[in-house]
Amino acid sequence: MKVDEATEASIISGLSRRDFLKFCSAMAAVMGLPLGMGEQIAEAVATQKRPPVLWLSAQECTGCTESLLRTNHPTLEKLILELISLEYHETLLVGSGKQAEEWRVKSMNENKGKYILVVDGSIPVKDNGIYCKIGGKTVMSLLEEMASQAAAVIAIGSCSSWGGIPSADPNPTGATAAHEVLKSKGIKTPVVNIPGCPPNPYNFLSTVLYFLTFKKLPELDDQARPKFAYGRIIHENCERRPHFDAGRFALQFGDDGHRKGYCLYKLGCKGPETFANCPVQLFNDVGAGAWPVGTGHPCFGCTEKGVGFTLPLHSPARPKYITPPGMFPHVDEKRGHGTTIAAVGVAAGLAGAALGAAAVTAKKLGKEDEEQGKSGSKEK
Ligand code: SF4
Repeated sequence: MKVDEATEASIISGLSRRDFLKFCSAMAAVMGLPLGMGEQIAEAVATQKRPPVLWLSAQECTGCTESLLRTNHPTLEKLILELISLEYHETLLVGSGKQAEEWRVKSMNENKGKYILVVDGSIPVKDNGIYCKIGGKTVMSLLEEMASQAAAVIAIGSCSSWGGIPSADPNPTGATAAHEVLKSKGIKTPVVNIPGCPPNPYNFLSTVLYFLTFKKLPELDDQARPKFAYGRIIHENCERRPHFDAGRFALQFGDDGHRKGYCLYKLGCKGPETFANCPVQLFNDVGAGAWPVGTGHPCFGCTEKGVGFTLPLHSPARPKYITPPGMFPHVDEKRGHGTTIAAVGVAAGLAGAALGAAAVTAKKLGKEDEEQGKSGSKEK
């Protein structure tokens, strides 16, 4: 069935046909789908029943919901009232207490096997899960109950994807990822992780629309994250990457290099070991630069288990899949002392004249770094 203008208008009221198709094409682009897929998504949205979504909040800070509240294309009210059917969400529900819990059970029964369960927050498993309860039940048991009847589970945010902040050492509540809890209970409902602190709402929305359109989850990586959003490291798409390649680094917050927008690697940026589309997707619909590195703060690796909330904020990243350009020194070279030919050779995979050039460049850069450092400390 081909979607017509009137149907679209009734689905996303207030959006013109053109804007509606633009929105669907944008979501297709987020997912890396061919352009024509926008129309297929539009047709699915316009002609099918809105997917019922139940949202379970565990140990969380409401940042994931706040992030969703900042969506403008569509706005939150269009999203929850017209695009999906948000059946249960403690923060956004009109009802509360007994009424809310009764509605949750009713909605689960009516949409058995069809609803999407969204989980935000980590699940405390220590002491039988007593550290987080809703309506007298532990979220551990609620997760089990709600996931076993869902069509799919979306773990939104780093806490539900891999433990996040609550799981930081010494992890007093036994904070655990949703998929790990489900695995331990033998529940086989498919899970997709959308980590981030906060996660990008468009990655969530795209996943829901993909599921609605194609009746399956998008292709996932080995950590169950959609490849369309987490297939590349941040460093690959970072606007400061040319400075990294050229060996230009900020050495202190507020120094000359920092003001000039140089690479933040030496301030602890974890972009080289973190998979996410932050530099491409950005946040809050305010345009270029609206992401941590864009505002001058190093990426702290929130989407990556074993990096965010695990490694010290300002320790250097362990770059993945990066071959340093041969004409520049390795980022770890000591300042002012040049570099060894062997070190550059191993790092750059080059020989001969390029090694000499790299060593000379390292020495020069070291001096520049020192000068920058001095001027930075004078300015302090
Ligand atoms: S280290 Fe960080 S700031 Fe530098 S290019 Fe990579 S992602 Fe960007």
